[in-house]
Amino acid sequence: MKLTVLGCSGSVPGPDSPASSYLVTADGFHLVLDLGSGALGALQREISVPEIGAIALSHLHPDHCMDLCGLYVATKYSPCAPIPRIPVYGPEGAAERMALAYDLPLDPGMEEQMDFHAWQESQQIGPFTVLTAPMVHPVPAYAIRVEYGNKSLTYTGDTGPNEGLVELARGTDLLLSEAALQDNNPDNPGDLHLTPADAGEQAKRAGAKRLVITHVPPWYDRVTQTENARRTFPGEVLTATPGAVYEI
Ligand SMILES: [Zn+2]
Ligand SMILES: [Zn+2]
Repeated sequence: MKLTVLGCSGSVPGPDSPASSYLVTADGFHLVLDLGSGALGALQREISVPEIGAIALSHLHPDHCMDLCGLYVATKYSPCAPIPRIPVYGPEGAAERMALAYDLPLDPGMEEQMDFHAWQESQQIGPFTVLTAPMVHPVPAYAIRVEYGNKSLTYTGDTGPNEGLVELARGTDLLLSEAALQDNNPDNPGDLHLTPADAGEQAKRAGAKRLVITHVPPWYDRVTQTENARRTFPGEVLTATPGAVYEI
């Protein structure tokens, strides 16, 4: 399978990247992990809107889901409309939350364009087996493991350090990990995000084969964050950049 970074800017879009969004492709099926602010533009550089197979939302903070509002417009009003309803997997209440974000009546909200499903521990999405585990964040948030054949990638979404992440990422081929906080910063809030040291340590404990650092906010430097993660993870550590592609 192939992982393409659409947006890797943490917490807000940055000058060179949309907020969180990643495209996972296998067997011609396209699964979009998160669709944060600004990501719909980058997505259309890779595939057309009708080619979206499904969308998987780690959680409902705007930097992970807000471009569903733009996608709603594209699927309802563009010349490619109407297209079949796009399956959207996410936390319970995602349909209501997105209707409110767009200021739509709750019934039908976006339901005519999108088919919302609450996350289960395991589900089949196209050719992928997708596993989730609840994370530690101020709102319900999930890490997502995508398996295809004997390969897997695991995406942390947003989370503080926790055992559930280590378990979900056990032996994964690529851990796509946020690192939104700085190492050794006494002002770091708890149970919110990972530092580079946390990301490296969790990857090491999980036995991940590769670590890709992402979700670095524009006010920090993503290369520095990546270098710091190398102190706790002995394997290959890469920096997510817009348009980067990883074969898994
Ligand atoms: Zn975030
Ligand atoms: Zn968040």
